[in-house]
Amino acid sequence: MEERIASPAKTIEILQSNDFQFLKKFGQNFLIDLHVLDKIIRAADVQAEDVCVEIGPGIGSLTQALAEHAREVIAVEIDDRLIPILQENLKAYSNVTLIHQDFLKLDVKALLEEKGIHRPIKVIANLPYYITTPIIMGLFESGIPLAGMTVMVQEEVARRIQAGPGSKDYGALSLAVQYYAEAYIAAFVPQNCFMPRPKVGSAVLQLTTYKEKPVSVKDEKRMFSLIRAAFGQRRKTLVNCLRNAEALALDKERILEALESLGISEQIRGEALTLQQFAALSDALMED
Ligand code: SAM
Repeated sequence: MEERIASPAKTIEILQSNDFQFLKKFGQNFLIDLHVLDKIIRAADVQAEDVCVEIGPGIGSLTQALAEHAREVIAVEIDDRLIPILQENLKAYSNVTLIHQDFLKLDVKALLEEKGIHRPIKVIANLPYYITTPIIMGLFESGIPLAGMTVMVQEEVARRIQAGPGSKDYGALSLAVQYYAEAYIAAFVPQNCFMPRPKVGSAVLQLTTYKEKPVSVKDEKRMFSLIRAAFGQRRKTLVNCLRNAEALALDKERILEALESLGISEQIRGEALTLQQFAALSDALMED
């Protein structure tokens, strides 16, 4: 077994020998805790036949563990200074493909086709926090075959994503993610597990993609416009939020009628509605 890149001593040695300075703009907080690394691999349930895509491999700490468990690892790193370091650190692993690119600009679908990969992939990453939501939502919306995502995110974001109705953390992001996947927090990770230490706590979030969506809705775009409007003004009732949302062009009567047909109180706030109720409301509001 190769020496662990994620150990604090090895990480420091790599950083010093390459005279590497962290760049805040790339959200660089490298993982230096082998137990946390283990928890990520276990939460993702990485198997020998898996194809894993890693966003932001850094110096290769997580990439190394993935390469030892999975069939193939595709690691996408934006920072050109890290490419030679990764090539050196991962030279023992022939199942790693390193891509030097901004993940948000990468056509993952085309890449998988080009590589002849048709099985659902697992996305596993200690995410750069400044682009957590666009990465997660972009992947779900891309329609690529996706078994799930195991991602390190800010603790507060993890709580928002896994929250259910009635909780203060519940909102448009919870519903957007839970439309595609079952979400649970696999581990809370303190600041001292990273170098440099981030300002806030982190969590490993496990998102397991549903084989079938948990709700069927006639127009999903419209349902999400409704959801965004419903949480736009948290202290207001759902009826007021919806009628204040100009883009929806709904009058009060119409909203009240739809709520009544679904047996939902006109006093309700958006934060009390389930995804199923939002879907039903969206369909009811589309009827003439
Ligand atoms: N995986 C490493 C680890 O766990 O130690 C590094 C994680 S660090 C939180 C985030 C990594 O994402 C950094 O290596 C950073 O350079 C990279 N990164 C930032 N923005 C990126 C982007 N748009 N596309 C690809 N990689 C990015």
